[in-house]
Amino acid sequence: MIKKIEIAKIFGIPIKLDLSWFIILAFITWTLATGYFPSKYPELDKSTYLIMGLLSALLLFVSVLLHELSHSLVARRHNIPIRGITLFIFGGIAEMEQEPPTPRSEILMAAAGPLCSGILAFLFLLLGNLCTNFLPYAPIIGVLQYCLFINTALMIFNLLPGFPLDGGRMLRAAIWNSTGDLKKATYTTSRIGSSMGLFFIIFGFFQIFTGNFIGGLWLALIGMFIKSAADSSYQQLVSGNVLQGIKISEIMTRDLITVNDSITLDRLVDDYFLKHRYNSYPVVSDGTLLGIVSIHNVKQIPREEWKEVDVRKVLDASIIDFCVNPDDDATLAMSRMIKNGLGRVPVLDSGKLVGIVSNKDIMQILKHKIDLKV
Ligand SMILES: [Zn+2]
Repeated sequence: MIKKIEIAKIFGIPIKLDLSWFIILAFITWTLATGYFPSKYPELDKSTYLIMGLLSALLLFVSVLLHELSHSLVARRHNIPIRGITLFIFGGIAEMEQEPPTPRSEILMAAAGPLCSGILAFLFLLLGNLCTNFLPYAPIIGVLQYCLFINTALMIFNLLPGFPLDGGRMLRAAIWNSTGDLKKATYTTSRIGSSMGLFFIIFGFFQIFTGNFIGGLWLALIGMFIKSAADSSYQQLVSGNVLQGIKISEIMTRDLITVNDSITLDRLVDDYFLKHRYNSYPVVSDGTLLGIVSIHNVKQIPREEWKEVDVRKVLDASIIDFCVNPDDDATLAMSRMIKNGLGRVPVLDSGKLVGIVSNKDIMQILKHKIDLKV
């Protein structure tokens, strides 16, 4: 299950925090306050290091957010809908609903992020110099220099030419522009991305074994993230091509077993989980979808309370954000399914639940099309 909290809306774009981000905030604050700042500025006291660490970690968060926000704003100008920005363990992700329509829009959108980080780096350099000249107070200068460093690093790292990093997107757009073949461009750049990820993993482990444990672990994790993102981008493109032109109404499961929100958990277990073969059920109230309930949700409540607790108390409402229409393209169902991590999306027609698309439905149609080569 994805645990995200929406913290704000900027220009109408929802900004969400993945819970992993809090771990990272604490971790970065701690490494800066106990390692980085004390070694650079040995004369300060412990509480100052802690404040410097926390302030730097928060400014890192703002820097990543501005980077992603600039991608999103350019995407919106090119009519690519953005679901939101999620800040998580490795930085940020602007969730695009679909691929950019032209090489030009892709280049502009991809370049916006590194450009923003470059401008921020320049501003922090300027502020740092101003402080050194007019307000020579070490803690502030230290934080500003750290921000200069991370924004420069964000810019350079994102410009690496492997898809799905920004540099990889720009290279993909350039290949797409000269060959007219998006699939080939994605294949080439996602292969580069995948090898780059593998290189980071190997180099990271090398660092771990030669004593740089934290830095090495970090590199290896980033490598794994890039590699899996590059590999799945290509798979998604291939299956997306197969699914193109198929409507959700053609593949969805229509005869659903739904659960009323007011029944108790012991009835849910007896009449649904023990009777049918499904692991989760859509919960409705007068035909309106409220969420889904799974065995996992039921297990959160102690058995002796099942008689008193209603389904509506335990249901998972996060799936509501991922609904699709019967007339939508099947590729949309697939991309939303990947994003929600639940393996299914509800299909609504004028607000009423009319079906569900599960990963089984998608796999089936993919298999038939590939088997029959149609
Ligand atoms: Zn970026």
